[in-house]
Amino acid sequence: MGGRRAVCCGLNALEVTLAVLLTVMTAVSVSLIAVMALWRPQADPDPTVPPGPEPQVSPYLVGVGRADCTGPPAEIPMMGYAHLDQTAAGIHTRLYSRAFIIDDGKRRVAFVTADIGMMSQRLRLEVLQALQKKYGDLYRQDNVVLSGTHTHSGLAGYFQYTLFMVTSRGYIKPSVEALVNGIVQSIDIAHRNIKPGRIYMNRGDLEDSGLNRSPHSYLNNPQQERDRYGSNTDKRVVVLKLTDMGGNGIGMISWFAVHGVSMNYTNQMLSSDNMGYASYLLEQEKNIGSLPGEGPFVAGFSSSNLGDVSPNTAGPVCVNTGLPCDYLNSSCPVGGVEMCQASGPGKDMFESTRIIGHNIYKKAKELYGTARTEVTGFLHAAHQWVNMTDVTVQINSTHTARTCKPALGHSFAAGTTDGGGALNFTQGAVEGDPFWDGIRDAFIGEPSNETQECHHPKPILFSTGEMSRPYPWHPEIVDVQIITIGPVAVVAVPGEMTTMSGRRIREAVKQELESGGLFKDTEVVIAGLSNIYTHYITTYEEYQVQRYEGASTIYGPHTLSAYMQKYRGLARAIAKNEESELERGPEPPFFKNLPNLMNVAAVDRKPVNSGFGDVLEQVLPVYRLGDVASVTFVAGNPRHSGDIRDKTFVAVEMFRDRTSSWEVVHSDASWETRFHWLKGSDQQSNATVEWHIPASAEPGSYRIRHFGHYKQMKLFKPIITAYQGTSAVFRVTQNHYY
Ligand code: ZN
Repeated sequence: MGGRRAVCCGLNALEVTLAVLLTVMTAVSVSLIAVMALWRPQADPDPTVPPGPEPQVSPYLVGVGRADCTGPPAEIPMMGYAHLDQTAAGIHTRLYSRAFIIDDGKRRVAFVTADIGMMSQRLRLEVLQALQKKYGDLYRQDNVVLSGTHTHSGLAGYFQYTLFMVTSRGYIKPSVEALVNGIVQSIDIAHRNIKPGRIYMNRGDLEDSGLNRSPHSYLNNPQQERDRYGSNTDKRVVVLKLTDMGGNGIGMISWFAVHGVSMNYTNQMLSSDNMGYASYLLEQEKNIGSLPGEGPFVAGFSSSNLGDVSPNTAGPVCVNTGLPCDYLNSSCPVGGVEMCQASGPGKDMFESTRIIGHNIYKKAKELYGTARTEVTGFLHAAHQWVNMTDVTVQINSTHTARTCKPALGHSFAAGTTDGGGALNFTQGAVEGDPFWDGIRDAFIGEPSNETQECHHPKPILFSTGEMSRPYPWHPEIVDVQIITIGPVAVVAVPGEMTTMSGRRIREAVKQELESGGLFKDTEVVIAGLSNIYTHYITTYEEYQVQRYEGASTIYGPHTLSAYMQKYRGLARAIAKNEESELERGPEPPFFKNLPNLMNVAAVDRKPVNSGFGDVLEQVLPVYRLGDVASVTFVAGNPRHSGDIRDKTFVAVEMFRDRTSSWEVVHSDASWETRFHWLKGSDQQSNATVEWHIPASAEPGSYRIRHFGHYKQMKLFKPIITAYQGTSAVFRVTQNHYY
């Protein structure tokens, strides 16, 4: 594994500098093509729809769907820690998109939560284009919410703004296609099986599953405000239970605020992290006898206002000395910020993911089981595109302020205690560093006085709003959106809101919705990482401290206040049933000819006198429960397997005496299996498949299989050939250690 310079959702400065040069050079050959209009005018909603959430006589129509959105698990950079060395090399668990469609007979809304780092504007535009082709105006920018779970172990490469392309090695088609096709397919499935049903809501608190990673910033919020809350993170879990008319559960959506960083930057296997594992557990329990990712019950665990919430509940320590990190800037006396890392609650990242995921699953399951409050009332959907660089904020009756062109501060490069930091950057810096400022000015450009003043007290590292080569570095046009299902309002936020930011937004939306008298007992949830990624959104007070989250609040100190105005506006429109009269706002750009900096995958070679799929290291003849069965095969590059959705690289098979045949009991989507792809020298590679045999495994005869493809050149043409390999048969016996 490479160096220790990961940051959550960021990148380190040296990598940026090098990558910028690379990108700019590449860009010379890339033509710059501007904006393209994508949208057709939408149909006006039916004016006869009553505005409020008052009970309706007929039930909703509800549909649920889940689809595989796993892309090629090899060589492509992973999204989240922005660590150029963290490239995919296998699969721990598969990634899924989960869609929920609700219709009140007049209007329809679709909520999608996908196992990805975050939604991107590009991904959303491509998904909406595909939906437009299939369904006309049924699924639109106003009634479809796309949210990411914030796993940091999915693929990158699905962005159209330069900053993200730098760490993703450009726009990577196979990565994008898997996501677009997976998301659209999940909506297709939900659309096809839509039927009359009911929705029940429940909520409760979950302890011991997150802690505030920037308590110093949180403490800068007014005392009076903090006194209203018992904790510096939100512990609330909100659950919607979806049933058919017979009362049989068909799916669940839940929201909880915690970062998807239980798996850390050393992991190279695709993984849905803690939230995905919660989905996995509930779906496996409800879909009895199905392999993971199969079966009709769909359990979505959506992200929320997780901006400052870490799942690493053992907290940060200096890993070299065992001493606490500096409270203000998360730095260590020896080794600096790189040594200050948070971990736990497990002994390693797999166990931590399991514990946090299990906690979330258990709470949601309990709430699902006891949900009695029926959700009734009409649906609403309000959406606008906003130019976030140009919002005037009313501070009080006499003063106004403005949002800024996007920029990232120095602490952005310091990273977080969940992902390490870079060089001599520390969190909480409000003064620049002459050395790094010099490098920035030489290669990237000095921020203008206007931008520096606008972002004060942020010392600007990258003035991304003033960088437009080869494409703009950050978005200007941002989606704001609210959907309501009876009294439940889902606020789709374009990034990572901190705990207090989320609380302010929820309160403002609730107040506006209820101001008209038609909404009451409104439950407002934040759906995080939705629609487009704009990094973090802190409160004005947290921003002053300039830790990682403040440094990454890209539209300046009044970013949250601007969003408050916009979401209030949407909520007011819903409360008056006037959402169709909202201004659409400026449409986002759709850039063409985005660069792909990934090399074409090389041809595969194999050791002499062997074939692809041959076993290099064999399984043992006998394992006990709790052991790890492992086998290594001669492999091809998984990128040669094309569209891998709904397929598997791995099968654990059990011999059934009854039928005298082998039955697949695990695929590469299983939590128990790990598919490691190991790239060797001379274009040779291996696949090691591990089966972590659970205590619940049935004793018997097993074998492990691996499936893949290899590429060779024949007459200067690439030829892709499928292969498979099978281990020796081994026994699993009853005795176990634990
Ligand atoms: Zn994050």
